[in-house]
Amino acid sequence: MSGDCLFCRIVAGDVPADVVAETEHSVAFRDIDPQAPTHVLVIPRRHEPDVSSLAAADPEATIDLIGLTRTVADQHGSGSYRLVFNTGADAHQTVFHCHGHVLSGRPLGWPPG
Ligand code: 5GP
Ligand code: ZN
Repeated sequence: MSGDCLFCRIVAGDVPADVVAETEHSVAFRDIDPQAPTHVLVIPRRHEPDVSSLAAADPEATIDLIGLTRTVADQHGSGSYRLVFNTGADAHQTVFHCHGHVLSGRPLGWPPG
């Protein structure tokens, strides 16, 4: 837990969030600024700054996180989904607690902008 981390505070229940699914290792909640009909953030309970750090530190939690994206897409989206890990400031990572964006519910163009 990092006391000044927004997503650690959501995991702790200190900041409210619209939680749609939880596991032992992970929490899924709706993005405050949705970019698709379904836009859910999937995060580890453990504080790691990005997904590669999580993978190195805790493979079990990483597998759990990826598995939860399928649950979210099936239960809250259309089944088809895009999973995005913005990693690093130049890739538009703004919150430095690992999070995957699950985007679903509309056709998604490629390449992304
Ligand atoms: P990033 O740009 O780091 O990949 O994604 C961070 C995401 O967190 C953004 O899509 C942003 O809308 C979302 N976000 C920022 N603050 C909050 C918040 O307080 N609650 C929720 N639910 N989402 C947030
Ligand atoms: Zn954190």
